[in-house]
Amino acid sequence: MSDPAPEPTSVPAAGGRRAAPAPAHLRFFHGPMDCGKSTLALQVDHNQSRQGRSGLRLTQGDRSTAPQISSRVGLSRTAVEVDAGTDLLLLVRSHWAEGRRVDYLIVDEAQFLTPAQVDQLAELVDASHVDVYAFGLTTDFRTRLFPGTQRLLEVADDVQRVQVEVLCWCGLPGLLNARVVDGAMAREGATVVVADTAPTPAPQETGPDETGPRPEVHYQVLCRRHHVLGQLGPTAAGPGQLALP
Ligand SMILES: [Zn+2]
Repeated sequence: MSDPAPEPTSVPAAGGRRAAPAPAHLRFFHGPMDCGKSTLALQVDHNQSRQGRSGLRLTQGDRSTAPQISSRVGLSRTAVEVDAGTDLLLLVRSHWAEGRRVDYLIVDEAQFLTPAQVDQLAELVDASHVDVYAFGLTTDFRTRLFPGTQRLLEVADDVQRVQVEVLCWCGLPGLLNARVVDGAMAREGATVVVADTAPTPAPQETGPDETGPRPEVHYQVLCRRHHVLGQLGPTAAGPGQLALP
């Protein structure tokens, strides 16, 4: 898109937006892993862009060289990788300074935002009328709110729990994320294990024990009861399965 910037010489767009103040909103969609948040994020992006609006997609923790928001149903779109040090106000203003419109933001992995970054999103909504759609995990593997999630729950205009599509192995709705280290459920450790945030399935074939220096880490969604009990299910195929009671 190469729409001419309305006011290339000043702080772009904000002035014009104030003249015609369409109310913007900070909306937060949250749930456990595999509940379809990224799919919803891409759907919202698609719907917005079809209305002729320009958006910016942000994500965190994407290990690839070409960051993207990807969903388990096969959709993916490029995205801007941000980290805890990214000033989101500056990021959007730099796009405006280049004459690029930013009418809305799609923020995936929003649980990783710092509280200050969430406040920056709120400022973009209130001062510049940018619509923000944030998508993130509710709780970490210890069943505690992520800091970014907590702040979003505190300040968002609208909060929706994403319809749970993922079930625990027992058939009940999966609500909580378990961190599985070498086949056993972990209850201690850093909130975020970098490079292991993707909910990859356990490796199916490990063959003879070739355990490298790094433990195998993955995440599994459980119902509350089985999270409390630490039971990963009778069919878990990961290493260490035989050690489970
Ligand atoms: Zn269960």
